[in-house]
Amino acid sequence: MAEEKVRVRFAPSPTGYLHIGGARTALYNRLLAGKKKGFFLLRIEDTDRSRYLPEALDDIMTGLKWLGLEWDEGPDVGGPVGPYQQSERIPLYQKYARQLVEEGKAYYCFCSPERLQALRQRQEAAKDPAGYGYDGHCRDLPEEEQEKYIAEGRKPVIRFKMPREGKVRVVDALRGEMIFDLQTLDDFVLLKSDGFPTYHLANVVDDHLMKITHVMRGDEWIASTPRHVLLYQAFGWEAPVFLHLPVLLSPDGKGKLSKRHGATSLREFREKGYLPEALNNFLLLLGWHPPDDRELFTLEEAMEVFSPERISTSPVAFSLDKLNWFNGVYIRKLTPEELAARVLPFLQKDGLLPEPCPPERFNYLVRIMPLVQERLKLLSEITEMAGYFLREEIPPPPRELLIPKKSTADQTRLLLIEAEKELAKVDDFSSETLETALRRLAASLGVKPGTFFMPLRVAVTGKTATPGLFETMAVIGKERVLRRIRAAAGILAGD
Ligand code: GLU
Repeated sequence: MAEEKVRVRFAPSPTGYLHIGGARTALYNRLLAGKKKGFFLLRIEDTDRSRYLPEALDDIMTGLKWLGLEWDEGPDVGGPVGPYQQSERIPLYQKYARQLVEEGKAYYCFCSPERLQALRQRQEAAKDPAGYGYDGHCRDLPEEEQEKYIAEGRKPVIRFKMPREGKVRVVDALRGEMIFDLQTLDDFVLLKSDGFPTYHLANVVDDHLMKITHVMRGDEWIASTPRHVLLYQAFGWEAPVFLHLPVLLSPDGKGKLSKRHGATSLREFREKGYLPEALNNFLLLLGWHPPDDRELFTLEEAMEVFSPERISTSPVAFSLDKLNWFNGVYIRKLTPEELAARVLPFLQKDGLLPEPCPPERFNYLVRIMPLVQERLKLLSEITEMAGYFLREEIPPPPRELLIPKKSTADQTRLLLIEAEKELAKVDDFSSETLETALRRLAASLGVKPGTFFMPLRVAVTGKTATPGLFETMAVIGKERVLRRIRAAAGILAGD
């Protein structure tokens, strides 16, 4: 018999923007399905209408595509076991919930929200750990009573009839066997009174019908797994393999990663200028260990080497420093043209380049890239780092930035005037020619290069830290360089 193909899914609920932890779950699932080994499904779990956020769906799909995590089956591309959006599968869940009622494995419950609330309050006051959850009030409701309530127009929920005693055994492929006491589990709701399924029912029915072989999800779902296992048993279905991914901790390792620690949604990381290849690489190692100490993996390479056995179960701290390091590495791997294309949207957003960008402006941007590539950590830093190349005028630099220590405004102004005169004579504005000319001038004026070049740098760029002065001047071009030097000399005049 042919070996069964791996079928995995990423099953986000569109209740918020795609979380970075969700992106890791999606990545690991994509990797487990591999290139040809199996199938990666995207299933949208949108049955909780009270928490539904309309823009979340688009955010999730855009984010996954941006990371390059394409799905083989899903709401937009379809597939043999669709639809892939749970809100389009409601009748299916109702059918399966009713089936369990008919088989005596689930029951209608008519308890009012008020009764349930009062029950909860009593339980909380009693502080008895065994006494939480639904008390089984409607578990053995006589048929006539049920009919009476229905005739009154009361809308029941369907609850799972939890076996009263015994244990349930859950096997997690990473953690091994976990035993849960059935007394700690209550008769949870399968179908709500509006006919919508709960997460547990819809998740299990779909994983079965979609022939999912491995359920890989965050470990916050471990507590749900015994309920799922019991549901598989009740339906007489074979359960998939479960793997729960380690929780993500804050950078300091104290507590779960949360908003308090900065960006948590993939969209925020994208907007800050992280590259998808850097994020994938970083997320890959956030809970998975390669067989050797190699650190850099493309998505393709990760697909070759990824194996679930090497996923860790201990919590992992989210190190922003490490992510920044990866980003720098991947930025430096790009060609100038590629990097220009990546930074372009950031410059357009900041109004430094038009949209669409004319080819000659883009080509100019490409020339800037080798000068900033080494130091750029986030794409969004480009405006700060390269704005003076792209702007016609720069804001007038402050006097104290222009005047070197142990020098005066007057001395500096005279140096700038000399430099401007000299540079006006240079026709070939290449960095080599500029360097020769300016060094010669410094020597003939008897000034140290530092005293000479720093005011020039500030005059031309407005900054004290820039790429090499001569390369920078060459790229900015003669006309703007002369104009900026004149303007700076003007600022220093009149003392
Ligand atoms: N809808 C759940 C979520 O938002 C899916 C959990 C699971 O993978 O079973 O993460």
